[in-house]
Amino acid sequence: MTLKIAIPNKGRLSARSAELLSKAGLDIGEDWGRKLYIDVKGRDIEVLLVRAQDIPEFVRSGAIDIGITGLDQVEESGYGLENILSLDYGHCRLSLAVPDGSGIKSTEDVKEGSRIATSFPNVTKRYFDSIGKKVKIVTISGAAEIMPYLGVSDCIVDLVSTGSTLKMNRLREAAVLFESQAAVVTTEKALAEKKEPIMEVADAIRSVIDAEGRKYLMANVPVDRMAEVEKFLPGIGGPTVLNISGIKDFVAVHVVVADSHLYDAINDLRKIGATGILTLSMDRLVE
Ligand code: AMP
Repeated sequence: MTLKIAIPNKGRLSARSAELLSKAGLDIGEDWGRKLYIDVKGRDIEVLLVRAQDIPEFVRSGAIDIGITGLDQVEESGYGLENILSLDYGHCRLSLAVPDGSGIKSTEDVKEGSRIATSFPNVTKRYFDSIGKKVKIVTISGAAEIMPYLGVSDCIVDLVSTGSTLKMNRLREAAVLFESQAAVVTTEKALAEKKEPIMEVADAIRSVIDAEGRKYLMANVPVDRMAEVEKFLPGIGGPTVLNISGIKDFVAVHVVVADSHLYDAINDLRKIGATGILTLSMDRLVE
């Protein structure tokens, strides 16, 4: 049974999604950007390139087994898809933004009957229903920021990451309705039918993310200083210690270190007389 994976064909999430698949070992080729679908070489897997907004519908209907898209799109769809892996990119928030001089500080201050322009009508409606406030939702498909200026709406609900677009349009973020990032999503039905291949893909992607931001560190350490090394280089389940042929007073230590800790780790190793210190990037890390 072929496993079908959908990733965004363009836009903010596209390049990183394709990069994760290829680093995970699924060969989608160099020219993936010009294709609509790709047969992954040597595997019973198809990758489909579609719009991020359409992915929840394709996954819900079963046309696709797993999809990578923004959780904002999943939330808007209301399909209750299963998030099996959050991917830590495409971070943004779906926020209520109001004109600078409006005096609105939170959703409490939004007047009954206010017009809210958004391309996320479902999330917006659910939110205002949940706080018991009746508002008029104006559904648009883009450029929400211009709507208050045009007089089409009083405020907007839109995606924000840095807030600079809001500022340029004299809008201010008044409340966050939803925090989003990219994720791997599927359905219970797909999991029931294809659990093994689905989890293999998710685990492979996780191993890529886990390997990023860490390095493989090797060093020759004086045997009598090993107790100190174990303290400052805990590694995954402790460092691997190997004998060096023909040398008695040194051992080779191999350990995985977070990038943020690498500078100190190398300085500490040098202080205790370690030699041959070498760091390597890793492609994947399966713990
Ligand atoms: P696209 O419109 O194809 O570039 O991608 C839209 C998706 O990118 C959204 O659904 C979000 O999940 C994600 N995203 C991340 N940051 C932003 C942002 N500042 N504005 C819009 N979408 C964002």
